[in-house]
Amino acid sequence: MEKRYEGKAKILYPTTEPEVLLTVFKDDATAFNAQKRGQIQGKGEINCAVSAALFRFLGQRGVAHHFLDCPAPAQMRVKALEIIPLEVVVRNIAAGSLCRETGLAEGQILPAPLVEFYLKNDALGDPLLTPERLFLLDVARPEEVETLKTSALAINQHLIAFFADCDITLVDFKLEFGRDPQGQILLADEISPDTCRLWDRGQRDPQARVLDKDRFRRDLGQVESAYETVRERVLAQIAKLGL
Ligand code: ADP
Ligand code: MG
Repeated sequence: MEKRYEGKAKILYPTTEPEVLLTVFKDDATAFNAQKRGQIQGKGEINCAVSAALFRFLGQRGVAHHFLDCPAPAQMRVKALEIIPLEVVVRNIAAGSLCRETGLAEGQILPAPLVEFYLKNDALGDPLLTPERLFLLDVARPEEVETLKTSALAINQHLIAFFADCDITLVDFKLEFGRDPQGQILLADEISPDTCRLWDRGQRDPQARVLDKDRFRRDLGQVESAYETVRERVLAQIAKLGL
């Protein structure tokens, strides 16, 4: 089948069913708006398995999502959606760009979860949007923006609890949403160590605790084993929940 789209981390293929897409997860890794490039061996399979597990978990908690099934390792069938070009970021603890841009210390626990909207546009560097700019751009209707925010906060609570049972702290994460043909908003894309900051609760050292793409971004080493740790713990927790 001909590619529909090749992104930085995944390739989308059409299927015989027009309402279904096949996502193939790649080992390619990028950071800092693709200025840094590399490979993380086994990442495609791990991110696919972790995302599938988390979509199943969130679905069981009542979250509407695009995930259908995994026909092979690193492959995921999803409902074809019209993606809303926003990166919906939820932060529980200060890290990354929030620290760089505000001076907050990394690791500072936020008084309440922070939801931020970034424009999904690589050419523009995925800029943080003010509420006014978000409405100006008109990428989502005001009611849809409310739905995104409410849904992101609910997902955050479910994922905080899930990862805590994996002995992992959910620092922050990025979500994407899309509209189905009926106009329903569904959670889309992936939820993986590429898109979440995850800290091992058993490690006090600020570098040793990192179990996510920051190991690649910051050249911390042991990237593959960190991703593998996340997969093992997530799949063990999913099995424990009987999902
Ligand atoms: P990018 O480099 O643009 O982030 P990725 O490599 O992450 O791309 O590939 C996934 C692409 O597929 C993204 O553009 C994402 O918005 C899109 N996508 C994710 N889920 C769906 C879906 N259910 N329907 C259509 N497009 C999707
Ligand atoms: Mg992406």
